[in-house]
Amino acid sequence: MRLIRYSRGGAAARTGLVCAVHESCLVELPAPTATAAPADDSGPELLRALARLAPGGDLAVTPRDGEHLPWATVELRPVVERPGKVLAVGCNFVSHRDEALRAGEQLPEPTRPYLFAKMPSTVAADGQDVFVPRGGRCLDYEVELTVVIGSTCRAVAPEEALSHVAGYTVANDLTLREVLFTGQGLFEAKNFDGFLPLSSVLVPTASAGDPRDLRLRTRVNGDVRQSETMAGAYFSCAELVSYASHRMTLDPGDLILCGTPSGVAAFADDPASQYLNDSDRVVAEIEGVASVTSIVRTGGGLSVD
Ligand SMILES: [Zn+2]
Repeated sequence: MRLIRYSRGGAAARTGLVCAVHESCLVELPAPTATAAPADDSGPELLRALARLAPGGDLAVTPRDGEHLPWATVELRPVVERPGKVLAVGCNFVSHRDEALRAGEQLPEPTRPYLFAKMPSTVAADGQDVFVPRGGRCLDYEVELTVVIGSTCRAVAPEEALSHVAGYTVANDLTLREVLFTGQGLFEAKNFDGFLPLSSVLVPTASAGDPRDLRLRTRVNGDVRQSETMAGAYFSCAELVSYASHRMTLDPGDLILCGTPSGVAAFADDPASQYLNDSDRVVAEIEGVASVTSIVRTGGGLSVD
């Protein structure tokens, strides 16, 4: 089972099921009845839909035969519209560290995750234009398996961590490399508007299997740039959630980006030929599970000057 978040005709976003029969099709879920609606209506809309589908929910025993809608007829929305927190982890793949070392970076082998934050304002929807800030030249892609926190957790062990995860999606952790490399630092390089294209599709934890088997891939104008499974990560999803939960309380709808494998533009033999340019089409995906597409544009009003 996979969930997909969308809106129709400008109405409020809602969550449906990815159709198991037709390609790029979703099945609408019936609106909650008054009795099924939670008294506390807070929390991400998609997590409320997931709870309705779980054992004990009002849709767990209902035949789910709603209207089938081609994705092209709806507006795809990010799985979480405005996450409370977006945590990311630097240098979490052996292959990515190796390519950085080959390019002359000094990166010690990580003994614990290196966490940083992206702002909620970076979130962009599937299919949305993403703008290179004025004066920017080195826009880079990073496909990342993304954990969606499902229930509040604090200081949990790795063995318990995945029980607090609603499921997995995919994001593109966009970076303006020259901002990172010229001293302004990671925070500014990672946090321009739209620098987190986020898929509309969530695969619930129970349907995902072992996350180490999930394959990440990036395509730029059809060319594969990154392709590796989560087995290449230093720290697993469970270890990352556990580690972060020992630093801060994690809340429903928070996102944790689990690192990117080799193949980024910055550490290529000829980086200038690999950075993203106007009109490029970038697809970040978990193979067979979820994807997010971005069209690169210039303009947009922000700048690096
Ligand atoms: Zn269908």
